[in-house]
Amino acid sequence: MPPYDRNNIFARILRGELPCKKVYEDAFALAFRDIRPLAPVHVLVIPKGEYVSQADFCAEAPAELLVGFWRAVAKVAKDLGLEPDGYRMVANHGPNGGQLVFHFHVHLFGGRQMSHRMGNAPEPEQK
Ligand code: AMP
Repeated sequence: MPPYDRNNIFARILRGELPCKKVYEDAFALAFRDIRPLAPVHVLVIPKGEYVSQADFCAEAPAELLVGFWRAVAKVAKDLGLEPDGYRMVANHGPNGGQLVFHFHVHLFGGRQMSHRMGNAPEPEQK
């Protein structure tokens, strides 16, 4: 994994240097709409801190931030009305995971039925 780049897009959004469509913010997390939504609801939740990845976040973040961040993820999903019908939660990790922005973030997808093709796996062969 690359070292944390303080000029990554999400760091700049956190500092208020770039705009975002904010849906939630507290002391631990910021949530905003993905600029290229892949579902009727597509929101990104990012922790307030300099963490490249899930591994980095889990190893380095203080316990208060870990708990606060994951509670914020759950709250955003609930507040967006995603709980009753369900939603998908994704965190791309590193190059093989397809991570493009190296500030740890969680995608929340909702508002439609998600495919079962996890990880872009091909559909099972029909017999
Ligand atoms: P990934 O790092 O692959 O998990 O995904 C990064 C996500 O950030 C992509 O879904 C992009 O569409 C999204 N994204 C990139 N720039 C912005 C931005 N300025 N505002 C909101 N979302 C963004």
